[in-house]
Amino acid sequence: MNRNEGDTRVRRAIAILIGAAVAWTTVTVAGAQSAQPKASGHWAIVIHGGAGDIERAKLGPDGDKAYRAALTKVVQAGAAVLSRGGSSLDAVEAAIRILEDDPLFNAARGAVFTSEGKTELDAAIMDGATLRAGAVADVTHTRYPITLARAVMEKTPYVLMVGPGADAYSKQARMEQVDPSYFFTESRWQSLVKQLEKEARPIPPRPAGVPPQGAVVPATQWQEAADTRRYGTVGVVAVDRQGNVAAGTSTGGLQGKMPGRVGDSPIIGAGTYASNQSCAVSGTGVGEYFIRFTVARDVCALVQYKGYSLKQAVDEVIQKKLAPIHGDGGVIAIAPDGKMAWSFNTPGMFRARLAEGGQIEVHIYNDEP
Ligand code: ASP
Repeated sequence: MNRNEGDTRVRRAIAILIGAAVAWTTVTVAGAQSAQPKASGHWAIVIHGGAGDIERAKLGPDGDKAYRAALTKVVQAGAAVLSRGGSSLDAVEAAIRILEDDPLFNAARGAVFTSEGKTELDAAIMDGATLRAGAVADVTHTRYPITLARAVMEKTPYVLMVGPGADAYSKQARMEQVDPSYFFTESRWQSLVKQLEKEARPIPPRPAGVPPQGAVVPATQWQEAADTRRYGTVGVVAVDRQGNVAAGTSTGGLQGKMPGRVGDSPIIGAGTYASNQSCAVSGTGVGEYFIRFTVARDVCALVQYKGYSLKQAVDEVIQKKLAPIHGDGGVIAIAPDGKMAWSFNTPGMFRARLAEGGQIEVHIYNDEP
């Protein structure tokens, strides 16, 4: 073989190797991409109003009706934003603000109390398109903690702000401020008193500025039953027509918690997570488990790296990982392709969903879809 023939063979061998490498890369990238949910061009939204010991018999027909009506209103409000071309972030914030105003839910107005009878609120929001996130914990004067979380995301270089610093930022950012008595509801207060009595812990004085005991119409039986839930939280996940997902969560945390305790809701990856590479998730339940198991991110990781369907992923984390260790709670999830899923291991989870062109679904108990 002369030198030229040798050169030609070497060049051919290199060309074959390069060709093979290019083909392998193309297959690998295509494979990875096909595991990621593609945008469908249609919007969808899923909401929750907390998971826990929510049973038909305890809630009764009136309670059942009130919660279904509230959930319906919230889904419709989020859907209205999405159907006029709004972003998933806007839909999440708009829907959560309604839940925060509604005393039926443990978020802002209607939130549970700490063992000292105060309200300490946590919230988070995340944008799946950019992975930007904002969160606040232990805020005490902000009417809409979800909007404050969004301000942290959009107007500060930070992700999480807590306590007096977050309260001060809330004022500076011109968030609506309220007296803490605004968050008070008689039924949540009675529920705290009952819990503390049962646990033989001291009962704090009634908060300043709230109606004296007896001045308030007694809670109906179903309100008391619903409020003996020691956890509640609200959350919304949505996908817009661009295929961008977003997640938000807002809560008063666990009833009777020690002041300063922070749950999973404002912890990105635990109670809240969103990525266009996989899905958006909001959780509710005993936050300590959700933090230790990085629940929201774990769901998305199963979708992203293991190619699980959304339903498989939420069931894997909630039923297979959390249920055996009594990590009570649930999640809602949505993907850029419009797929929606939920899973919970408690008797009930207030939940509802709607996809563009579909029928609204509202469910409460674990014998419903
Ligand atoms: N996960 C919330 C927390 O631990 C409570 C709840 O979801 O009800 O703060």
